[in-house]
Amino acid sequence: MAIAANLGYPRMGRRRELKIALEAYWAGRVGEDAVHVAARSVREASFAVQRSAGIERIPASFSLYDHVLDAAFTLGAIPPRYGSDRALATYFAMARGTIETPALEMTKWFDTNYHFIVPELPAAFQSHVDGASMLAELREGLHQGFSPCPAIVGPLTFLLLSRQVNEADRLAQLDAVVDGYATLLRECAAAGVDRVQLDEPCLVLDLDERTLEAYSNAYRSLAQAVPELCVSLATYFGPLPEEHVRTVFSLPVATVHLDLTRGDQPWDAIFTWLPPQMEISLGAVDGRNVWRTDLDSALTAVERIADRVGGERIVVAPSCSLLHVPHDLDDEAGLGDDVRSWLAFGKEKLLEVRALSDGINHGRSAISTALEASGNALASRSASVRVHNAEVAARLDHLDASWFKRTMPFKERRKIQRKDIGLPVLPTTTIGSFPQTADVRRARADYRAGRLDAAGYKRFLMAETERTIRVQEEIGLDVLVHGEFERNDMVEYFGEMLQGFAFTRHGWVQSYGSRCVKPPLIFGDVVRTAPMTVEWSRFAQSLTKMPVKGMLTGPVTILQWSFVRDDQPRAVTARQIALAIRDEVLDLERAGIRIIQIDEPALREGLPLRVAHRPGYLRWAVDAFRLASAGVEPSTQVHTHMCYADFDDILPSIVELDADVISLEASRSRFTLLRGLIRSRYPYQIGPGVYDIHSPRTPSHAELTTLIWNLVETLPPEHVWVNPDCGLKTRTWPEAIAALRVMVAAAKSVRAEHDARPY
Ligand code: GLN
Ligand code: ZN
Repeated sequence: MAIAANLGYPRMGRRRELKIALEAYWAGRVGEDAVHVAARSVREASFAVQRSAGIERIPASFSLYDHVLDAAFTLGAIPPRYGSDRALATYFAMARGTIETPALEMTKWFDTNYHFIVPELPAAFQSHVDGASMLAELREGLHQGFSPCPAIVGPLTFLLLSRQVNEADRLAQLDAVVDGYATLLRECAAAGVDRVQLDEPCLVLDLDERTLEAYSNAYRSLAQAVPELCVSLATYFGPLPEEHVRTVFSLPVATVHLDLTRGDQPWDAIFTWLPPQMEISLGAVDGRNVWRTDLDSALTAVERIADRVGGERIVVAPSCSLLHVPHDLDDEAGLGDDVRSWLAFGKEKLLEVRALSDGINHGRSAISTALEASGNALASRSASVRVHNAEVAARLDHLDASWFKRTMPFKERRKIQRKDIGLPVLPTTTIGSFPQTADVRRARADYRAGRLDAAGYKRFLMAETERTIRVQEEIGLDVLVHGEFERNDMVEYFGEMLQGFAFTRHGWVQSYGSRCVKPPLIFGDVVRTAPMTVEWSRFAQSLTKMPVKGMLTGPVTILQWSFVRDDQPRAVTARQIALAIRDEVLDLERAGIRIIQIDEPALREGLPLRVAHRPGYLRWAVDAFRLASAGVEPSTQVHTHMCYADFDDILPSIVELDADVISLEASRSRFTLLRGLIRSRYPYQIGPGVYDIHSPRTPSHAELTTLIWNLVETLPPEHVWVNPDCGLKTRTWPEAIAALRVMVAAAKSVRAEHDARPY
């Protein structure tokens, strides 16, 4: 009989109960007990949902903060600076840092918007395993009458993602890590577990021979150490590269899980190497997106494989952990019946998994109701006028090369802009947002709750904007911004004004630790029905003689931070958004805004996992930015902003954006960045962030002066801008003002000393 399985479930709770408990604990308002109570009830609820959906293999996938951190903590990879015991304080010190010690590094989990804590291995790592917290979750399951399957980051993925002393040889510590896993698995077996899930998403990446060999060795050692335990090896976020198939299917594991939702698996090779006893787990329900599964075609795909290997060797599952999707569609009555009928969140996806396994076990007729509902939803979606807009399609059809190209090359427009906008050398500016204080958030909440009327809210925002203009004038910045007080979030703000977007009420997904995001859903063709930012930019510009920069979020970032359509390529959706932003850009220009910034902090994040897929992505991502920005006159200056400096590998694409000015996060990694830029001779103007806005500390005059001199000596001085490394929305006003004053004074002193060459 085919088995219905799950790989992981959201951990924050349906109403973010864990977040609330964690934040109260961190703030010192409640004790450790409150965290454990909340955690236990979240686990209990999620076990219950999975059981009542008919899931037969339920993972123990809970984490108080992050599952990679959990693996490190359990194995005893705890840098001594955080403590030497297994106290909760040590765990959170690693995750969040303390006053004296910064946290471990955090980075994106493959190509998702989830961030994990990067483990740090000392030179000669020796594991010191303590599986207590994992076993507690197991016991809770046993208490509820079933045996959960611990879901643990696999040893190779753990090792490959860790920071190591010897970065050149990431496999050097393999034996020590595998040793730790062997101990951990023995503890699991002793606690009565008969199966563990080891997550090895690294298997879908490009790997060399040595790494594949390390997989063989590691899993062989584990099988020898704990022969009684079944291992489910989970791969996801892409198909297995064909070159990995032989290794993967030769591993001594009971089950291999494959992602069926992200491109074709190399089936011929898989069937060649699949051993006769091995179970194959089919990730037929997309765990990364919110759309209802086309059950008919998913079942066809699963049937095809079941016919080959026999239904009793089939496991049906979501493609990956459901960590990346919201809990429950029942919470979203406000979505509208049509959109809601097209969606499936965590709970609904489990029901789909169960329907598919029932379909394999009992035939199509056994799930005819589910098949029919899925078919109807699909038909309604593909026929809906809310999804398909003929005008948008026609507009896309009519694009030709001229839409993607500014009318004049940078060198020439630079001359016009220099004359028209008239800025000093080393112009100073900010990235856009000013402090989103409690007052600003309260006014927005009051407005949304109807306690403040539209006129009152607008008056409030106008007063904030005006104050921000005055502050910037007083500080002496050269290019001002309006402050972005009207924006709750740089993507949601635009999504709420565009057709084709929908918003959930409780559709939170974990971003990192207790932080959750509520991504918009892009369900239909994107249409801008009215200007979105023009009024605010025009108002801000009317208050001052200094140039005010218009502020937009770029198409790739809007796409990247939303749940996107699965019924057309992402490149097409990106183009639609780009056209909407382009219309806004041109309206801003018509309203007299001479400088327009289009933020693309997520451009790099979209980079595909496999090297071979990157050029294709970069091509359409760059094109989307160009489509959004290239319609302006030569005299209008286009800026972009990115929150990272580490882009050596995508530099040619950054150049291709053809943006007049780029600002970036550079205060932490500035030298690598500059070397890269010099090597490639970045031809445009650039503002490497001169201080870190994430820190409340005010930089010193000396420090910034040295830094700006450094920039002037490394880059063509006439190309250098002086700005912080990101928006100031998380700072307080005194912090923002103090730091900007130092920044402007430093820029002015370098400017004055720098020989008075006319630029
Ligand atoms: N303009 C945005 C701001 O200043 C940019 C934010 C970002 O880069 N993530 O807040
Ligand atoms: Zn930024």
